[in-house]
Amino acid sequence: MFGYHKKLLRVDLTNRKIEVEELSEEVIRKYFGGVGIEAKILYEETGPETDPLSPENVLMAITGPFTATGVPTSGRHHVVARSPLTGLFGESNVGGSWAVHCKRAGFDGVVIKGKAESPVYLWIENGKAEIRDARPIWGKDSYESAAWLKQETAKEATAAVIGPAGERMAKIAGIPHIGHIVRAAARTGLGAVMGSKNLKAMVVFGDGPVSIAKPEALKAHIRELTPHIQKATEAFGKYGTSGGIENYEKMGNFPLKNWRQGRWAAAKKISGITMHDTILSGRKACMQCPIACGRHIKVTEGPYAPMDCEGPEYETLGTLGGI
Ligand code: SF4
Repeated sequence: MFGYHKKLLRVDLTNRKIEVEELSEEVIRKYFGGVGIEAKILYEETGPETDPLSPENVLMAITGPFTATGVPTSGRHHVVARSPLTGLFGESNVGGSWAVHCKRAGFDGVVIKGKAESPVYLWIENGKAEIRDARPIWGKDSYESAAWLKQETAKEATAAVIGPAGERMAKIAGIPHIGHIVRAAARTGLGAVMGSKNLKAMVVFGDGPVSIAKPEALKAHIRELTPHIQKATEAFGKYGTSGGIENYEKMGNFPLKNWRQGRWAAAKKISGITMHDTILSGRKACMQCPIACGRHIKVTEGPYAPMDCEGPEYETLGTLGGI
């Protein structure tokens, strides 16, 4: 079977042990894709009695069969654990570059249990994995921590790294994934699960091969498909995830004051179209994505200047802008 290495990294933080578990073809076929396999593991290895912030919770990051094959928009993966927010299935889909590196490192994903005695990070590189000391960056924010982690590992690596909110187990803490672009596994409080395990980061770099049944045919198909995808998503790529804010506001589908307010005349000021016309300096893409909905902005005047960084996404503008 192609598309998988059939290998999951099983990490036991309590006993500082890492093992490679073989994924059977039967499991892969039955629970197709990262989130399917994660749902199976979560169902089998946790129960209603499992406290999401306890060592018994299982934190997983698993890729899919298209990851690192070049299939458009496939550079994504799912992070799953029992959610500290709901106590139920917690799942967050995240883009960027972590998934592609993980697959190229020779693994389909990681499954983490237990709790480290002191802060640690997981370093995965081309067929190897180890647990390392993260005490020097405990308490530091994700960006500062990622810079340190890349210095300690590889500058091309991608770090899924929590900040102080995750460390303190805030139930809304996400997991920023910092590589050539920043993407977040932001939903269901999974950053708090990392914090509860004393796991500061999962850092990965890989440049190995993946198995594809008909590589030349796949390449030709992707070449043929890409212009159609770009045409169909032209406005989305141009204005980003926040391009629809004005329309959402008109439809009453923008979370104003926690959905207590119907209309807001100033919505235009924070829309992706205004961002495009004023401060956008470039577009960014998750690995293997021809759409490039990510923003890079430059602010050269006014109270927030100078600023040269990634631009906000819809979720940030919707929650901080409209609320
Ligand atoms: S760049 Fe945008 S469209 Fe492309 S995979 Fe990432 S989030 Fe999706």
